[in-house]
Amino acid sequence: MAKIEKQEREAPERREPVWDYATAPEATDIVRLEDRYGLFIGGEFVEPKSGKYFQTINPATEEVLAEVAEAGPEDVDLAVRAARHAHEKYWRALPGSERAKFIYRIARALQERAREFAVLETMDGGKPIKESRDVDLPLAAAHFFYYAGWADKLEYAFPNRRPHPLGVAGQVIPWNFPILMAAWKIAPALATGNTVVLKPAETTPLTALLLAQVIQEVELPPGVVNIVTGAGETGSLVVTHPDVNKVAFTGSTEVGKTIRRALAGTGKHLTLELGGKAANIVFDDATLDQAVEGVINGIFFNQGHVCCAGSRLLVQEPVFEPLLEKLKERLQTLRVGDPLDKNTDVGAINSRQQLERIEELVASGVQEGAEMYQPECNLPERGFWFRPTLFTNVSQSHRIAREEIFGPVLSILTFRTPAEAVEKANNTPYGLSAGIWTDKGSRILWMAQRMEAGVVWANTFNRFDPSSPFGGYKESGFGREGGLHGLEPYLDFDGGGD
Ligand code: NDP
Repeated sequence: MAKIEKQEREAPERREPVWDYATAPEATDIVRLEDRYGLFIGGEFVEPKSGKYFQTINPATEEVLAEVAEAGPEDVDLAVRAARHAHEKYWRALPGSERAKFIYRIARALQERAREFAVLETMDGGKPIKESRDVDLPLAAAHFFYYAGWADKLEYAFPNRRPHPLGVAGQVIPWNFPILMAAWKIAPALATGNTVVLKPAETTPLTALLLAQVIQEVELPPGVVNIVTGAGETGSLVVTHPDVNKVAFTGSTEVGKTIRRALAGTGKHLTLELGGKAANIVFDDATLDQAVEGVINGIFFNQGHVCCAGSRLLVQEPVFEPLLEKLKERLQTLRVGDPLDKNTDVGAINSRQQLERIEELVASGVQEGAEMYQPECNLPERGFWFRPTLFTNVSQSHRIAREEIFGPVLSILTFRTPAEAVEKANNTPYGLSAGIWTDKGSRILWMAQRMEAGVVWANTFNRFDPSSPFGGYKESGFGREGGLHGLEPYLDFDGGGD
C-alpha cells in the first residue's frame, strides 16, 4: 500500500497535449494590384471626370491596397449612355445563342482565374480564403453558367408571353459577397438582353474591377457591362438616372427604402434584396451535433455578414442546455484571424464602420440584460476583428433580437411548442430566410408553410444554388434572384419595353 501511494506521488503530472494548426497562408503573388483603378465605361478603363479617387484597404491589416475612382454625376451619365448605346447597337438584337456564348466565356474565365479572384476577394473584403475559394468563386461561375443556359430559351421559359429586355439595368451591390453579388446581378441581366451599369460597394471594389478585365478579355461588346465605383452617392446617381429602366439593389433595408421612395412614380422596374434576422429553429428531436454545425455555419459563415444569416437561434426547451454546451465547445474550436490562412474559420470584419456597428449592438445586448459568451482567442493587433459571440437570456424586445447585427453574434431564445416557434420566428419586420432542425418530415412541412420567409432550409443552412430562387418578404425586400424566377425582373411581357 505504501509503495502504491509513493508511486502515485511520484508519477509525473499528466497533461493533455495541446494540438494546434501550423499556419497555412495562401500566397498573394497571383494577384497583380494596380496603384490606381479607373472606371470601366464603354469597354475601357477611363479616368473619372470627377477627378476623385478613394482608397480601398485590406481590413485584416489596414494596408492600403489601391486607389479607386469615385464616379460623379458626369461619369454615371457616361456609363448609362454607354449602356444605352450598347443595348441599341448590339445587345438587344443579338440572338440569345450569341449572348450565351459571351456569358459562357465569362463563366469559364472566372473558373480559370478562380484562385486569383479568391485571393483578391479575401484581401479586399476580409473573408476567409477557404470561403472565397470554395463558396464565392464556384457559385459566381455557376451563376454565369446557369444564366448562359437560359439566354436562348426565354421563349420556352415564358411561353406565349413574348419576353423583351427592359433596356439598361442599374445595379448596386454590397460588400459581403462582392464577386458573387456581381454575378447574381450581371448574369441574368445579360441573359435577358439588358445592358448593365454596376456599382460595387466602396469597401470592396477590386474583384468587380478584375471582372471588368475579364469582360474585356472575352470581348463582350463595349458598353454592355459598365462598372462605376464610388460610395453611396454614386449608387444614388445610378439608381436615379432617368435613362435607367431597371434597378436591382442588394443592401440595407434603410437604403432600400430610400431607393423605393426615390423611384416611386418613375416607371422603373425595381427589385430589392435587403436585410434579415433569420430564425434557426432547433426542435428537441433534432440530431444535435448536426444542428450545432448548422447553427455555427448559419451565423459565423462570412463573419455573419450574411443577409440570410441564422442570427436568432430558437431552441426547444428540453434541449437548450445540451445544445448550448455543445455550441460553446464548438465556439472554442473556431479559428479567428488571418483570412488568408487556409485554416481560418472567422476572418476580419469588413470595415471599421461595420465593427463599430457590431460593437454598439453587442453593448446594447449586455446593457439590456442578455448574457454574453465569447471564447478565448487571440486577435491580431491590426485590422478589424470581433470574437464569435453568443447571447443567452435574450428577450424578444432586445435590440440584439430585433436588429440586423451583420456580424458574428448569435442571439439564443427558447420555445416550448411548434406554434410558439412559429410566432417567435415570424416576430420580425424581416422575412428572408429560416432554418428548421427536426427528425420529422411532417414537422418540416408544417413549419415551412408557416414561415414568413423567402427561403426555408431544413436540416441544413446557407445552401445556395443558381437554379433556386432567393429573395424576401416584408422588409427583406421583393423580387427573386436565381432560377427561372430571377429572369423575370429583367423582362417585359406586354410587347413593350424594348
Ligand atoms: P448599404 O445598404 O449602405 O450598402 C449597400 C450598397 O448600397 C453599397 O454599394 C452602398 O454604397 C450603396 N448605397 C448606399 N447608399 C445608397 C443610396 N442612397 N442609393 C443607392 N445606393 C446606395 O449598407 P452599409 O454598407 O451601409 O451597411 C449598413 C448595414 O446594412 C449593415 O450593418 C447591415 O446590417 C446592412 N447590410 C445588409 C446587407 C444585406 O445583404 N442584407 C448588405 C450590406 C449591408 P457604399 O457601400 O459604397 O457606400
